[in-house]
Amino acid sequence: MVLKNVCCIGAGYVGGPTCSVIAWKCPDICVHVVDKSEMRIKQWNSDKLPIYEPGLEEVVKECRGRNLFFSNDIETAVKEADLIFISVNTPTKTYGIGKGRAADLKHIEMCARKIAEVAEGHKIVVEKSTVPVRAAESITHILSANTKPGVSFQASNAFLAQRVSSINAISALCEATGADVSQVAGAVGRDSRIGSKFLQASVGFGGSCFQKDLLNLVYIAECVNLPEVAMYWQQVTDMNEYQRTRFAKRIVECLFNTVTDKTLAVFGFAFKKNTGDTRESPAIYVCSHLLEEGAQLNIYDPKLVNGRPVRGPLQVLIDLWDKESYDEVRTTFGYVLDLDKLQSTCELAREELHKTQEVESKQIQCDLTSVAVTSEPERVQQLINIYSDPYDAVTDAHAIVVLTEWDEFKKYDYKKMLSVMKKPAFIFDGRKILDHEALINIGFHTETIGKRFSRNTLLRASGEHFPAFSWTP
Ligand code: NAD
Repeated sequence: MVLKNVCCIGAGYVGGPTCSVIAWKCPDICVHVVDKSEMRIKQWNSDKLPIYEPGLEEVVKECRGRNLFFSNDIETAVKEADLIFISVNTPTKTYGIGKGRAADLKHIEMCARKIAEVAEGHKIVVEKSTVPVRAAESITHILSANTKPGVSFQASNAFLAQRVSSINAISALCEATGADVSQVAGAVGRDSRIGSKFLQASVGFGGSCFQKDLLNLVYIAECVNLPEVAMYWQQVTDMNEYQRTRFAKRIVECLFNTVTDKTLAVFGFAFKKNTGDTRESPAIYVCSHLLEEGAQLNIYDPKLVNGRPVRGPLQVLIDLWDKESYDEVRTTFGYVLDLDKLQSTCELAREELHKTQEVESKQIQCDLTSVAVTSEPERVQQLINIYSDPYDAVTDAHAIVVLTEWDEFKKYDYKKMLSVMKKPAFIFDGRKILDHEALINIGFHTETIGKRFSRNTLLRASGEHFPAFSWTP
């Protein structure tokens, strides 16, 4: 069989980037990415892609319209394809049997039925969504074809999540005993049987897969009457929840046991760096704990806020225009400007920036006001502000809380930030990415995961979770 046409059902985080790279690497193959969502496809066909990944925009721009196409015409794409990827979402069920734990396979089943209905001739169907063991049997039933069950992917995600929870468990122990989790991770990682990857302690894992796959594994284990196996894997997700809660509690404790009406600048909302994906982000949970305590949150994320570099030329132009600094506009942009034209450009630019900002601010608002997270969405709404500039976000704040490991956070001028913050100013590095010694030297009270710089909060911090440590001086 000569492979000429590839189709991917589901233009999400998996289908879109995977197929863009296939089209880029295989210019002789025609790739159609299809989705039932008109909005998603419109975004893939626009200048502002729905997903951010480094280099993705360049790849899509090179291939789109050449051998890469995004459309809603699922039937034609399926009919013409030699190979079909199913990359639709398999969220945790929110209803019926297995609610809150089992994977919802309704989208997968719909795809299988669609393929069976319209396909002519031989096709290779690749199930790319994460599905529980035996799901492939149902798909095979519908397609009358043979595919392998998807348990291995689920298990490897569970093992990765387990590593994160293991090092996070050690981080709690390090904080209580005065050890440094980075040193522990370094030593453990040098053991070639273990290896160094996924040993970075943090505020917890997130993303669309780990939690969902773990819960599904637990559910399957229970269904086949293996309660010990279920409990074992459940503990990996419990440890993740514990780590987020522990971090939030530590923030409250350090801020003199109350954050009510205090302003905290949150750096990072995506579940990891280099993505705009917030699904299951630890930031959602840490923020929601802080909101419950009445904190005012100034949230800044490089990608989510406006999807483009902070204070790009357009924003600079608008700011200068607003300040009526026309001479500065001329020197900054290096040419004599027609002020009338400039005014209309500024208005358009402002509208454009406002639009994108609004969409992505809405994502954060939705995450923090969803029923799964709060019973008081209106109150939460009042407590959060989304910022497009980190320096604005820290103005008059009592603390900075780092929740995503974006590289740009390492490069900020923290001395400048300190000067506009309330004193004493705190910084809580939930990703262990900042230069802590330097921050302490310029005057920040600094806290991070798996290490304590000051021991005076030890007693209070240990009490609730670690009664065994109440003897510490
Ligand atoms: P996503 O929610 O970003 O995208 C899924 C897309 O499928 C949506 O755009 C949706 O409109 C579309 N869709 C749903 N039903 C459809 C149908 N019947 N016909 C056409 N389109 C349909 O999801 P994702 O993050 O891309 O994940 C897809 C699958 O891959 C999931 O099972 C996930 O567990 C798995 N996975 C995800 C990752 C990851 O990093 N996100 C990694 C590995 C595996």
